[in-house]
Amino acid sequence: MATDVLEVIRTKRDGGTLSEEQILFFIAGYTDGSIADEQASALLMAILFNSMEADELTVWTKAMIDSGEIMDLSSVGRPTVDKHSTGGVGDKVSLILCPLVASFGIAVPQLSGRGLGHTGGTLDKLESIPGWSPHLTPEQFTDQLRDIGAAIVVAGDGLAPADRKLYSLRDVTGTVESIPLIASSIMSKKIAEGTDALVLDVKVGSGAFLPDLDLARELARTMVGIGEANNVRTVAHLTGMHRPLGRTAGNALEVAESVDVLQGGGPGDVRAVTIALANEMLDLAGVDGDPAEMLDNGKAYDLYCEMIRAQGGDPEAALPRAPHQMTVTAEADGYIAEMHCRKVGIAAWRLGAGRARKEDAVVMSAGIELVAEPGESVKTGQALLRFHAEDEALFGPALAALEGAIVLSEQPPVLPPLLIERIGVEDLG
Ligand code: URA
Repeated sequence: MATDVLEVIRTKRDGGTLSEEQILFFIAGYTDGSIADEQASALLMAILFNSMEADELTVWTKAMIDSGEIMDLSSVGRPTVDKHSTGGVGDKVSLILCPLVASFGIAVPQLSGRGLGHTGGTLDKLESIPGWSPHLTPEQFTDQLRDIGAAIVVAGDGLAPADRKLYSLRDVTGTVESIPLIASSIMSKKIAEGTDALVLDVKVGSGAFLPDLDLARELARTMVGIGEANNVRTVAHLTGMHRPLGRTAGNALEVAESVDVLQGGGPGDVRAVTIALANEMLDLAGVDGDPAEMLDNGKAYDLYCEMIRAQGGDPEAALPRAPHQMTVTAEADGYIAEMHCRKVGIAAWRLGAGRARKEDAVVMSAGIELVAEPGESVKTGQALLRFHAEDEALFGPALAALEGAIVLSEQPPVLPPLLIERIGVEDLG
């Protein structure tokens, strides 16, 4: 190709638009190792500062998709609709949504990730179920989608390998926080997975990856645009992550809460987000139905049990429970005006529920229960949170992470909305 890596870096450094030839050259060269990390770092920093045009980003994302295998789900014989969340604290929605939507005859091909930092990951949560494994061969994955409709597995190394290399590099070069780089990273993996349609749950608030509403909206719009350009019908919902979702943050605790929702109970906010996303997935698949009814009549739970058993798990087995608990109480009377979501997530992480590095293990039983919720009126000494840990020595660091996290007010607070905005292709203008 008549291009070289310095020319690519200079083009973006000077605010220009990369040509298709430059993008293909860079993505292929970085994936096969012929372009060095320091040169890729320079380009990523130039993209962070100078962004990308929509067409440029489409070509960039397509090159990332084409860097690896593209799954073929045609043998599944059902419409396929996946969901992706940008992640948060207590976000257990995938565990419920996947079997719920599958109970309507739709296939939900979930290639999921693990948690990092203050945010949890679907695979970590499900691994607290005795026997359950996220490892299926591609054939087992498509068979399970055909037979049951729901499968949650770890993404194989062959999917968008350019993203794996670029994401690791971004992580250590201060270039994660770029809308085009985040959007192409998420969408390249989802599109390579071969789904017909996709619903994105873009979180907003202190517990979210991008706390700011305007940035989250821009990310959502960018991802919807990339999906459409690649013939994957995509809709995004902006949802609140100003407080932990539901009443638990921590792997086994969240599985138990998900089962409550699948059996028609559970916290109202988890149910509301799940139903909103399920309705969207049904629409994209062209299927009529009432997700609330499937939760209440036990059919979604039955499908969850089938999905867990198909992957070696025992859905009825006792979940790990931590030997030590500690209760955090209110220091005054008042209304709970805020439970700072990121701080609660960091406290749960310090109790052992999360990991600092990809290779760290998580403690299945560790985490935090919300005994009271934002908006509730509490009295001095009343229980607000309950810590769960394998080691009592972790209570101190977790408590320190909560410094200033719980704000009490004299008047009933106005809480931020949960279901903030829907963004479809018709909103892109
Ligand atoms: N998640 C991803 O997969 N990629 C990003 O860049 C950020 C979050």
